Amino acid sequence: MHSNGKVHGNGNGAQLLEIGSLTNPQIQDFINFHESRSPGFSADRLQAIISMLLAELGFDLMSEHFRDTPKRVARFYREFTRGYRVNPAEILKTFASRNSELIVVSGVEFFSLCPHHLLIYGGKIHFGYVADSRIVGISKIPRLIQALAARAVVQEDLVADIADAFMSVVKPLGCAVKAVAKHDCVAARGVRCTEATMTTVALRGIFSEDQNYAQNFYQGITHNGDCAR
Ligand SMILES: [Zn+2]
Repeated sequence: MHSNGKVHGNGNGAQLLEIGSLTNPQIQDFINFHESRSPGFSADRLQAIISMLLAELGFDLMSEHFRDTPKRVARFYREFTRGYRVNPAEILKTFASRNSELIVVSGVEFFSLCPHHLLIYGGKIHFGYVADSRIVGISKIPRLIQALAARAVVQEDLVADIADAFMSVVKPLGCAVKAVAKHDCVAARGVRCTEATMTTVALRGIFSEDQNYAQNFYQGITHNGDCAR
């Protein structure tokens, strides 16, 4: 697309403009364009910043492909950072129980953002705990996992954050978290290892004190096909 003699990205992903060659007035033009299409646009700082990023990369924000991209990308980043606004105590409703054996919830799907590249990583998280008179509703464990995963956090800290949140709210005898994930920043760029997975573990309470509990947790994790249904 040509406008004022300048060549912009054609909306099909082709790079027609040198990166970083847009002037400040040109970037402002893009923001003004969006402001005219959706009043209040520039009040949404995230959308305005994403619009500037796209302009800086040389993409044509007027094309049908990019026109609503700032709005979509802003929504994506808000979704993937919602974990900063959740309160684990509001998620983890507890009930009285006499159960004092290992409870395992396996195979909770999650997606998170790698803080180093802002690319997605995801996979399955397995969770176990031994109650101390209080249990949690089964759906609350996936809710906690997915809420805390929706942040820019390294996988090593994600399992620790889930375990610490559960310990502080539910106060069980112990809990264990195991995450197995693939990282887009490892698969799609850099070393390009598409099959490499990373496993991280956090053990708290009796799981860190008694190796038998940890072993029982690992054995209690079910995988596809292990379930009766
Ligand atoms: Zn990364």
